[in-house]
Amino acid sequence: MKEGLHPKFYKAKVTCACGNTFETGSTVKELKVEICSQCHPFYTGTKRTVETRGRAEKFRRKYGLK
Ligand SMILES: [Zn+2]
Repeated sequence: MKEGLHPKFYKAKVTCACGNTFETGSTVKELKVEICSQCHPFYTGTKRTVETRGRAEKFRRKYGLK
């Protein structure tokens, strides 16, 4: 990838309201979320589905909720 075409991509530390922290790729260094894969019953209950299908959805949800 050529530099300059993309915003900087950090390994962001995500802090959830439940106290869980994890890392994800983001354009900011730190993120705060109200729900994460550890405390959301939908995700915890259907983990396999999430891994294949939920990435973009999760990303959108994270920003849509703000
Ligand atoms: Zn959580």
